Amino acid sequence: MSAVVAQRTTGTAPGAVVPSPPSSTAAVAPVPLEHEDLILHRGSRSGRYVIVAVHSTALGPALGGVRLWHYAETTDGIRDALRLARGMTLKAAAAGLALGGGKGVICGPKDHPGGRERRDLLLDFGDLVESLDGRYITAEDVGMSPSDLVVIRERTSHVTGLPPERGGSGDPSPFTALGIEAAMRACARERFGSPELADLRIVIAGLGHVGEKLARRLIERGARVAVSDIDPEKRSIARRLGARWIEPVEELVSECDILAPCALGGAIDAANLPLLRCEVVCGCANNQLADDSLAESLAECGILYAPDFVVNAGGLIHVYREIRGYSESHARELALGIEGNLERILATAREQGITPLAAARAVAAERLERAGAGHAAAA
Ligand code: NAD
Repeated sequence: MSAVVAQRTTGTAPGAVVPSPPSSTAAVAPVPLEHEDLILHRGSRSGRYVIVAVHSTALGPALGGVRLWHYAETTDGIRDALRLARGMTLKAAAAGLALGGGKGVICGPKDHPGGRERRDLLLDFGDLVESLDGRYITAEDVGMSPSDLVVIRERTSHVTGLPPERGGSGDPSPFTALGIEAAMRACARERFGSPELADLRIVIAGLGHVGEKLARRLIERGARVAVSDIDPEKRSIARRLGARWIEPVEELVSECDILAPCALGGAIDAANLPLLRCEVVCGCANNQLADDSLAESLAECGILYAPDFVVNAGGLIHVYREIRGYSESHARELALGIEGNLERILATAREQGITPLAAARAVAAERLERAGAGHAAAA
């Protein structure tokens, strides 16, 4: 597709960063530039930027969802794509899947796009995915629904997570929620000496596709769940679930056993970290830490951090079965396996006196190295 501006970034010095323009809101931190591809394209229909970042294809095609979001600056969208793609490489490698890491971003308008405007954005993104000829496979992420994927599918076959009536595996969020619950059991065992979640105070920050399903599961287990969302209409969902509603300003500072960031990335930063009043951080959001070094700070504060890319792999496992032809029960088994995977990582971290993030990266690095990828991401 000639209109696509492809910036091949392979070979860029590891550690180089995408600079922050003076006008940027700096909402998304600079990202090490170690990716295979970064493609930024202004859609011919929508006139808005669509982005794909391919971090690594060492283990297989780069699979990662596409996020439809309004960014104050396009550079924030680029950074988000770069960060998220890197996380996908780690996630697939840590979960032992034959997949690489990539991510899509659609820089949407301020107001929720619908109708023709939404369709144009999705078709523009579909063209971009098609131009990569299978190196990148897209799926659902924040701001998207399975029906949006159907529109993208009009322009490319490199789509997973389509609705079941379209031959796909459908919404991955139930599997992500299943995996997070499994991970919480591993955290509870490590921190409280028992995998039992009943009576634990759990705050879910972000009552979206995953957050809602997670809240339901945890309430069924007898946990004391509080939820928040920037969308006040989600209050009625909280009521229906029987969860306590808290305002978004309280979500990080509420005293609880487990804090589950389930909205966007960068929820925990240097400014709010000292305010946290939880024992454990374990949620589905990608890139929960604004900066990786915060994993050390969390450990210093005595907070157990379950690396996001390990615990939220359930959705990826779910769409992976669409590519590899797994049965639903096998995919469930793999998602439940997150408990054991995390348990081993937490034990390694404890024994070696390193953070769980460092231990999880080491697992991913080992798998990438075995595949012949000398990748900085997992280092
Ligand atoms: P979603 O768009 O359905 O839900 C996100 C929710 O967070 C929305 O309701 C939004 O209003 C709310 N929100 C945004 N900012 C907030 C804030 N500051 N405080 C409270 N609420 C806020 O998305 P989702 O599919 O539930 O995914 C949530 C996160 O999990 C994302 O980071 C996504 O990348 C990650 N994730 C999702 C899946 C999946 O299967 N959907 C898999 C792996 C990772």
